[in-house]
Amino acid sequence: VKVLLTGGSGFIAAHIVDILIQHGFDTVFTVRSADKGKRILDNHPDTPKEKLSYVIVKDVAQDGAFDEAVKSDPPFDYVLHTASPFHFNVQDPVKDFLDPAIKGTTGILKAIKAHAPTVKRVVVTSSFAAIVNPKQHPKVYSEKEWNPVTWQEALDHSNVYRASKTFAEKAAWEFVEKEKPNFDIATINPPLVFGPIVHYLNSLEAINTSNQRFRNLIQGQMKEQLPPTGIFIYVDVRDVALAHVRAIEVPEAGGQRFFVTAGYFTNKEIVDIARKTHPELESKLPAKDSPSDLPSDIYKIDNSRSKDVLGIKYRPFEETVSDTISSLQEVGA
Ligand code: NDP
Repeated sequence: VKVLLTGGSGFIAAHIVDILIQHGFDTVFTVRSADKGKRILDNHPDTPKEKLSYVIVKDVAQDGAFDEAVKSDPPFDYVLHTASPFHFNVQDPVKDFLDPAIKGTTGILKAIKAHAPTVKRVVVTSSFAAIVNPKQHPKVYSEKEWNPVTWQEALDHSNVYRASKTFAEKAAWEFVEKEKPNFDIATINPPLVFGPIVHYLNSLEAINTSNQRFRNLIQGQMKEQLPPTGIFIYVDVRDVALAHVRAIEVPEAGGQRFFVTAGYFTNKEIVDIARKTHPELESKLPAKDSPSDLPSDIYKIDNSRSKDVLGIKYRPFEETVSDTISSLQEVGA
């Protein structure tokens, strides 16, 4: 059984590659350059090239970007689409975010419909960003909720990442409804993703966006004052990666969104765990009595679909924090 995975160089995708191999799938991933592709293959020296290889897709926003990548012999059975920009360095909201997120998603679906009739399902990495309603949280967050962001609001730099994920996911569901293609889709909607890094890193400066608070903590940048937690829900990257693979393995996953979250966290909890599991960091950590900023009236979260349908058992936060710190220490934090 053969899978195409886009954005193979990404933080989450690196874990998806590991799980696809473990579960016996033949995997082809896309990267923007041969250099990146080779580095990833070098990290899997024991995997034969029939089981793992790459194709180059330079920019997912270009028309026809995936037309060649989706053709393969033997042909693909499933596609996992993770490639999408996630950073906060906004220059041009449309060119940097909205185009690659939306056109990247519709582009791959069009390419599959036109050139890959054997594909049965496409799993799209969406986000809690496509669920959250930051101006008015509902009582309970579940797959039923949609971010109500408008195109006008999307152009504001502070909204554009969340909007890009919202419009991209909407475009995917609309495509399936209108085009009635040969495949169904499922979306994976994680909040902040933490966890160990298994992808090649040039430097800690290039660390993926959602792990940045761990780098800052280890480097002592939180010592004077614990920064606000911001978003209070998280998931471990290994659980998100497994959810993607389960979404192709479980027939009933088709046509569904999956809100994959392990639960609440605060920066204070991260520090408390770090103090216990990595005592050598003591001099870099803020004071023991730093207050928790978890609001007492925080919204509820319902992750039951991910557990019931995909069978995800979420890791405890202590494991996530400890493994993330250890993995950053290995790359020199
Ligand atoms: P990374 O930044 O590590 O991965 C993003 C991937 O997308 C990289 O492989 C990157 O390639 C690729 N990419 C970005 N823009 C383009 C483009 N224009 N053309 C081709 N490839 C492109 O982030 P994550 O692994 O965290 O994110 C993966 C997915 O998960 C994204 O869809 C993101 O929105 C989603 N997500 C992430 C969350 C998180 O907390 N991490 C939370 C919720 C959703 P390159 O390496 O060459 O830049």
